[in-house]
Amino acid sequence: MVVDKPDALDDSQLASIDALHALHDALLPGTVANALRTDFFRECWAGCDLAHIDRRTLRHLPTIDKESIRAAGEAAQNREGVVCNDVLTSGTTGNPLVTIRSDREQKFIEQFVTRQLLNKPVRRYLRGLHFTNPYHGHLISVPAPIHNHRISVYDAGSFEYARRTLLHSHKDADVAEQCSVLSGLERCLRAFTLDTMARYPEGFPPTGLRLVVSYSQYLTRKWRQRFQDTWRVPVIDGFSVSEVFGSANQCLQCGWYHFEPYVVPEVLGAHSGEVMHEGAGLLALTALYPFQQAQPLVRYLTGDLVEVTHAASCRPGTTAILPLGRARYGVPEPGSDAWLLAPSAILEAVDDIAEVKRIARFADVEQVTDPYAIGHPKYRTSTAHGKADALEVKVELALAREVSGQRRAEIASDVMQHLAQGNIRLQGALRKGTVSLAVDCCDDVRPDMISQAHSGGVWSPA
Ligand SMILES: [Zn+2]
Repeated sequence: MVVDKPDALDDSQLASIDALHALHDALLPGTVANALRTDFFRECWAGCDLAHIDRRTLRHLPTIDKESIRAAGEAAQNREGVVCNDVLTSGTTGNPLVTIRSDREQKFIEQFVTRQLLNKPVRRYLRGLHFTNPYHGHLISVPAPIHNHRISVYDAGSFEYARRTLLHSHKDADVAEQCSVLSGLERCLRAFTLDTMARYPEGFPPTGLRLVVSYSQYLTRKWRQRFQDTWRVPVIDGFSVSEVFGSANQCLQCGWYHFEPYVVPEVLGAHSGEVMHEGAGLLALTALYPFQQAQPLVRYLTGDLVEVTHAASCRPGTTAILPLGRARYGVPEPGSDAWLLAPSAILEAVDDIAEVKRIARFADVEQVTDPYAIGHPKYRTSTAHGKADALEVKVELALAREVSGQRRAEIASDVMQHLAQGNIRLQGALRKGTVSLAVDCCDDVRPDMISQAHSGGVWSPA
C-alpha cells in the first residue's frame, strides 16, 4: 500500500513507519524458516511458494488457529537444544492451550530490550504502582525504565497501602520520588478503584499519577470513565495474547491501538478471509523470529474481533486496531464480512444496568467489599434461522429475582434501543426485516465472556 505523506506527519514519524515495514520485511523470511523446522508448518505449507515472503506476500499463506496448534502439540514446536517454560491460555472448551517459550528467546528479548534502553538512557527511572497478575503461572519479565511497587489484590490491606504509596514520596536511588503510573489487570484496577471511590466519596486527593495502564480485559466506557474520574489521569488500555510476544497499546494521541514492532498484525474478513484495511474483522498475528522461536505462530487467528484502520490512526499505512471482544460472541451478517453486532457492542449495552446479575470476582478477598460490583455481567447472545431465513438474534439477560415486571420491560426496551441505535448495519437489517432482535430477561444464564480474559499479562515489566 502506497501512503501519501499526510501533512500532519513529520519526517521522523514517516521514517519510523518505513523502518517498521523494513523490519517486518527483514524478519519474515527468518520467521518462515524457523516455522519450517516444525512438522506442523511443513505440512500446513505444502505446495505454498515460500521463496519471497514479505508483508505483501504473507497473505498467500494459510491461517492457523488455536485448535490446530493444540492438536499439533509438540509437532508445532522447536524444542531442540533449549529449555522451555509453559504458557497456558484457556481455550474455548475450557481446557488450556499450552504454548512454550525457550530460554534462548527469553534471553534474546532481555538483551534486545536492554540494548534499546541503553540507546535512550534516562536520568531517573519512573516510579509505578503495579497490581501483580494472579492468573498466570509463568510471567516473563521484559526490562523497562520503571521501578514498581508490586502488590497483589490478595495481599491483606494492599488497597490502603497502595493509596498511601500513591500519596507519599519515596527514596530509591535514581528513581522518581512519586508514582506516576498505576498499572494492572483491569479487574484488579476495578477492585482498587471501586474501594477508593467508596472511601473517598468527595474524590481522592491529588497524586503524582500521570497515567493508568489497564490490560487483559475489554475496557468498557463506564469503567474507563471511572478510572479517569477517580485517578484524574488518562487511561491506556493494553491488548495482548499470551501465546504471542508483542502487544498493542492504545495511543493517547489518536485513540487507536498500535502494535509493538515484534509482531505483524493482519485483520481478515470473517466471511472472505481477505485482508481488510478498514472495518471489523478477525485478528491474525505473526510472531516474528528471533523474538519468538520455540512456538512459531504465523498468521495465527487469535479469536478476537477488531476494528482496523490503515488511514485514521496517527501512523497511517500501519495496521491500527480497536479490540471488540471475542469474535464468537458477536453476530456476523450472514454471507458478508460485516458484523451486525460486535461482542463489545452487546457488553456496552448491558454494562450500565445495575440490576443485571454479575459473576463475583475476588470473592475470597476481604478488602473487596462487593465482589459482584466488579464482576462481568451475566448475559448471552444467540442466533437462529427463522421464517423466510430471517436471522433471529436473542439477547438473554439474567436479572435479580426482585426486579419488577415493569422494570424488566423497561430494561429490555432500553437494551433493544441501545443495540439498534448504536449499530447501523443492525438497524438497516431490522428495517428490511432480514433480522429480528429480542431481549429476554431470565433468572440465570451461562454468560458470554467476551473479554480477552484468557490472555494477556504474561509479559510483565521487570
Ligand atoms: Zn496513535
